[in-house]
Amino acid sequence: MNEADYRQAQARLVEELKAQGIKDHRVLDAVRRVPRHRFVPRHMARWAYLDRPLPIGRGQTVSQPYIVALSLEALRVTSGDRVLEVGTGSGYQAALLAELGAEVFTIERYEELADSARSRLAELGYSGVRMQVGDGTLGWLEEAPFQAIVVSAGAPGIPRPLQEQLDLGGRMVIPTGDRWSQDLWLVERADDQWRRTYLCPCAFVPLVGKEGWH
Ligand code: SAM
Repeated sequence: MNEADYRQAQARLVEELKAQGIKDHRVLDAVRRVPRHRFVPRHMARWAYLDRPLPIGRGQTVSQPYIVALSLEALRVTSGDRVLEVGTGSGYQAALLAELGAEVFTIERYEELADSARSRLAELGYSGVRMQVGDGTLGWLEEAPFQAIVVSAGAPGIPRPLQEQLDLGGRMVIPTGDRWSQDLWLVERADDQWRRTYLCPCAFVPLVGKEGWH
């Protein structure tokens, strides 16, 4: 496939996302701008604009575009928001967050994935994304509070440190359930109350860490 083919496939994906109910045009524009084919291994690039998760190495995946778009829509990110992403993976969602104008902080537990995400993001001009290798279930205390947090691995429950690092009025999207299947939740903080809204069923790789799976 050449660049024009990728562009066409990307435009089709955006139409599919709209048909599935994604309405936020800022999110759709971001999906239109970020070249997902650059975030997957070269031999997978021709599938990059199918609405599917794809392997990125270390047994991990770049999430399904619909789930990513739904999460970003629910987070209502506005320009200048400080956003924490747990599970950098390929860096794709971090790039979308940067396109939405967020100040992005992202944590990945595998150094190897973090290294390739870092160089990919820099090559594509997303050099403002701040990245850390470590256990994202503990959050990023020095940079808290965050106006939004997106957890892109399946958790047994909502990690307490993430709950505490969410700003008042902040939004968090997190999949919780068992190791193989989860429910995606929007959690909104008002004072010291956290209100949950159900988004959809989903299947993420496990969130492994002190406040996650062991
Ligand atoms: N958002 C990513 C993207 O756009 O490519 C996809 C994330 S992938 C579904 C989940 C990622 O979470 C994996 O790369 C995995 O290594 C990472 N992960 C799992 N547990 C973690 C933890 N406690 N802290 C940080 N990263 C973690």
